[in-house]
Amino acid sequence: QVFNFSSGPAMLPVEVLRRAEQELCNWQGLGTSVMEISHRSKEFIQVAEEAEQDLRDLMKIPSNYKVLFCHGGARAQFAAVPLNLLGPAKTADYVDGGYWAQSAIKEAVKYCTPNVIDAKTTLDGLAAITPMNNWALSDDAAYVHYCPNETIDGIAINEQPDFGDKVVVADFSSTILSSPIDVSCYGVIYAGAQKNIGPAGLTLVIVREDLLGQARKELPSILDYKVLADNESMFNTPPTFAWYLSGLVFKWLKEQGGVSEIDKRNQAKADLLYGVIDNSDFYRNGVAPANRSRMNVPFQLADASLDKLFLEESFAAGLHALKGHRVVGGMRASIYNAMPLEGVKTLTDFMVDFERRHG
Ligand code: PLP
Repeated sequence: QVFNFSSGPAMLPVEVLRRAEQELCNWQGLGTSVMEISHRSKEFIQVAEEAEQDLRDLMKIPSNYKVLFCHGGARAQFAAVPLNLLGPAKTADYVDGGYWAQSAIKEAVKYCTPNVIDAKTTLDGLAAITPMNNWALSDDAAYVHYCPNETIDGIAINEQPDFGDKVVVADFSSTILSSPIDVSCYGVIYAGAQKNIGPAGLTLVIVREDLLGQARKELPSILDYKVLADNESMFNTPPTFAWYLSGLVFKWLKEQGGVSEIDKRNQAKADLLYGVIDNSDFYRNGVAPANRSRMNVPFQLADASLDKLFLEESFAAGLHALKGHRVVGGMRASIYNAMPLEGVKTLTDFMVDFERRHG
């Protein structure tokens, strides 16, 4: 059995893949696959509506929020957010907590002069994030943007934002649906699907209704939240297969007991993996405990000359995609919702054994 620790596109629940396989060529007895039918057919509209309702149930999305099923990945949102939300403002607060937050800032500078808040710090030599009440927000910013989980750095910001009337925008690409989120704390939540939701090609945007309709006029219609909302995310042809498959993942998640149950499992998986890392001098994670990501666990071998062997042997043992991102090196295990505890246990058993043989 293979366990895939890829950071994204990532592992999907096997039950979902089996069901999709079963109905691939003959969906709902139509003699065709779901990806070959019109997005405006009554059959697909039902899929689309059910997926949205299931997501609303799972995340307890309040009724004054629109859910948009978009193209373009999270990176398209790096541009869509300023173009939709800046209005007449010339600045927005951007919190820099790592690689993806910085990528959002690089895009935002095309449209405004962001007020960049460097939240990166160290605690006892470990990477950490300054508490939210130390973030120096500016009065004239249209919104504050941050990334609650840095997929590459393995750094999480777990505090719930409470900035009064400020519009808070968050890139939840690598944590959405992994633990409960109070949606009402945010103006916009966005997430690429390919980690905790479904196949690449779909991006979710959850936007508070009062923020619609203030887009800059040069904004391409396809990125305009109001245009998308007014057209039920069907302004153009949506990524229908990814939408359908994400809908199956939402149903799977409901069957598992919803977000609160998966939250417990995610905690157990993270505790097991960090426990093995912390109990050894052979492996190391460089993030302060309060900011450790439960989804993406980077770790280094004390002797980096063993990296290649570790990757070869782990792959042979069915533990795939453990190589760290090229900008940080080392290893990274992404343990999203679809990764079972058994997968993490197989990894930790391998790590203990590898250390015994090479430590
Ligand atoms: N934001 C975060 C937190 C990510 O992890 C990623 C991709 O890994 C992105 C943004 C970019 O997403 P996309 O490739 O969907 O544009």
